Amino acid sequence: MPVSPDMAEDLAAAVSSLYEQTELALIEKVTKALGEGLDSPLWAELKLAAIGNLRTAIEEIIAVLQVDSAGAIHQALAEAYERGQQAAVAELGALAVGPALAAAEALPAAAAVDRLAAALVAETGPVHARILRTGLDVYRQVIAEATSAPLLGATTRRQAAARALQRFADRGVTGFVDNRGRAWNLTSYTEMATRSALGRAAVQAHTDRLAAAGIELVVVSDAPEECPRCKPWEGKVLRREGPSGAGVVELEHATEDDRVVRVRVAGSLPEARAAGLLHPNCRHSVSIYLPGVTRPRPKPPSRATYEQTQKQRYLERQIRAWKRRAAGAVDEQQRTRANARVREYQGRVRELVAETGLPRKSRREQVGSAR
Ligand SMILES: [Zn+2]
Repeated sequence: MPVSPDMAEDLAAAVSSLYEQTELALIEKVTKALGEGLDSPLWAELKLAAIGNLRTAIEEIIAVLQVDSAGAIHQALAEAYERGQQAAVAELGALAVGPALAAAEALPAAAAVDRLAAALVAETGPVHARILRTGLDVYRQVIAEATSAPLLGATTRRQAAARALQRFADRGVTGFVDNRGRAWNLTSYTEMATRSALGRAAVQAHTDRLAAAGIELVVVSDAPEECPRCKPWEGKVLRREGPSGAGVVELEHATEDDRVVRVRVAGSLPEARAAGLLHPNCRHSVSIYLPGVTRPRPKPPSRATYEQTQKQRYLERQIRAWKRRAAGAVDEQQRTRANARVREYQGRVRELVAETGLPRKSRREQVGSAR
């Protein structure tokens, strides 16, 4: 069975939903803390005096998140590694030629999984400090904005606070930039980081297994939902490791020991991956290439176009955004309106899924009510 990042990325939901719940809980905590007593003339003084309570509440949320996320990360990566390894074992078993026969057993995965998990925990660690800082900053900022004009009455102060809180809810906890310079918020950043780590783990497990079996070449699939970054590598044969660049590899024919065959390769797998192949959300896969044995695989039937999958991601982001707005609503009417938009976008995802047959990644949108 070929390996694709796609085969493990669904596991990211178990991790990213913890962060999404935390983000909603933070917005709710700040909104509730500021919303209480909003019409009192002493509101600003009382709120500033109570900032320590908010700090404690946020620190509690973060402490739970740290424990839960470390466990969820380890569990998801172990499962991703196992899936990648099983894919290789199945593929090797189906070949039943040459070195492949010797390689039916799985390798011990614990050390590799520990390493991958430690890297992802380190990568997501800095977000915890930012959750606290953002919560306290927004709290102070809303108080400052709502009291800035000296003659504001209670109603306008309420409106100013509501506006500032909705702005916060729109963005969520921000300030995360990936290595390509793109800005993310808390949930999207941790989801992206987790999805890529899981995809990498599955591919690495597959590659580790192939290395143990002495397989030198792999071939890239023709994907049904084509991504522009991977197009140059489609259907190409690659070295599993070793030098980059196109060239010719000589190896023994898999079925006749005395014959040497020459195979044209487009580069190496690490090179192709560095250039974007098997990126997060990639539908391409990589499988064993044995000259004279491997036949081109038929292109799997398309479930939807690349544009349709992107549209689904867009709708899912809207669902999340309106959930945050509901969490940051000061009054009931505002919350009801935001929740109606959540249902509206959920309906649009259902329609798209029915139309295209795309899997509905409901864990991406659905979040239990946050505490
Ligand atoms: Zn791709």
